[in-house]
Amino acid sequence: MCGIVGILGTNDSSLKVYEALLVLQHRGQDSAGITSYDLSSAKFSTHKEMGQVSEVFGGKALSKLHGEVAIGHTRYSTIGEVKESDLQPMMVSYPYTVAMAHNGNLSNYIDLKKELMHKGHFFTSDNDLEVLLHLLTKHLSRSLENNFFDKLCFAVNEILNIAEGGYSVVATIGGEGLMAFRDRHGIRPLVYGVKRNEDRTLSYCFSSETSVLDFLGYQNLGEVGAGELILVRPDGSLLKKNLIKRENLPCMFEWIYFAGPESSIEGKSVYKTRLKLGQELSTKINESGFVDSIDVIVPVPDTSRVSAIAISEDLGIPYREVLVKNRYVQRSFIQNGQEKRKMTVNLKFSVIREQVEGKNILLIDDSIVRGTTSKKIVNLLKDHGANKIFFASTCPPIISPCYYGIDFPTKGELAAASRTIAELESYLGVEKVFYNDILNLQTALEEIGFCRACLDSEYPYPQREVHHVT
Ligand code: SF4
Repeated sequence: MCGIVGILGTNDSSLKVYEALLVLQHRGQDSAGITSYDLSSAKFSTHKEMGQVSEVFGGKALSKLHGEVAIGHTRYSTIGEVKESDLQPMMVSYPYTVAMAHNGNLSNYIDLKKELMHKGHFFTSDNDLEVLLHLLTKHLSRSLENNFFDKLCFAVNEILNIAEGGYSVVATIGGEGLMAFRDRHGIRPLVYGVKRNEDRTLSYCFSSETSVLDFLGYQNLGEVGAGELILVRPDGSLLKKNLIKRENLPCMFEWIYFAGPESSIEGKSVYKTRLKLGQELSTKINESGFVDSIDVIVPVPDTSRVSAIAISEDLGIPYREVLVKNRYVQRSFIQNGQEKRKMTVNLKFSVIREQVEGKNILLIDDSIVRGTTSKKIVNLLKDHGANKIFFASTCPPIISPCYYGIDFPTKGELAAASRTIAELESYLGVEKVFYNDILNLQTALEEIGFCRACLDSEYPYPQREVHHVT
């Protein structure tokens, strides 16, 4: 999972993209990058490095990124080490000069790359974005259309037809403007907005989340649709086309975990959805007969706070913030590598002992993925004198890998995949585990369609072995 942004129509586009990346920092903390394009000098400039956004763009880096168009990326990588060559945005310069960034994963990346290599394409990274770049320029040069937007429609249509997976893309192509498109199921999020500059010209912004549009003062124009292509020309005119659309299946894990609570996805507020997930879960807990055994509701910060408040209100049990997060440690789920993740959990929380000693705690978390964090937190609370621990997850049991950009790589790593609830309770060392089920999730999301392949193994694309996730 990553955060992407693209802005056109303002002289300080790279500064605005930098501010946007700060807002999207929670989506990935491995690296950050910006590529800008200056219309008058026809010059691209790029700066990208390992690290968080403010580290990468501290100093003078931003002052070298000129132009009216800029795209940016904040990266979360999940498999293997992060390599300099994989950082985004990426560029190719022949036969078109294109800079591109994406969020997601091509599930048939290996096959596509092999096919391109067979046809003479040369790759410099292990990032599936490079495949998209090659496909775009290849099909742009193959197109017989005269008009650039028609050419682009042809090329992106070819991509959408053959590239499987969940991906949202922003790119800038020389003097042709800023483009964005989304996979045919709309799995990964992408929204766009417009604002009028003081001189009455228009500026457009594409972003992974609506929070960026709000923060930068853009009017939200909605989602880039599944299988839709949008091109904003340098003069501010906007062209769009639905190229190929299948069932709209946005990733449910955005509402559960990834997106900021101030964002909306597909018009559904993340905050309200998390409240509803809490309400659904409290009904289940209420029916379990264990309510009288619980003294306090404790959220695992930060994502589960909203649901925990709803559960506390519904059950009439006090809410207590007893896990104090060290804000300088990155989110454990989006740390790549198990060892790194374990280390992060160790450093991440302190406990307010007097609020825990002798208490029966209902711990609320957004999900149980590998169980590493959950088990560690349960032990931490017990070490600080907690009596009994009950555990509630707002996400239903995750039983299958994700091939579309979230780090659930193998069934064997998923805590709920091969355990009964009783086995999971014993593994975590808790009295009882409560889960929402898929119907609860459907109710919370007001019956819209969504991808749930990791919950029911019903994949929108054929299942494949995936070796690379960005
Ligand atoms: S498989 Fe799960 S995590 Fe992956 S895109 Fe679908 S809902 Fe999201």
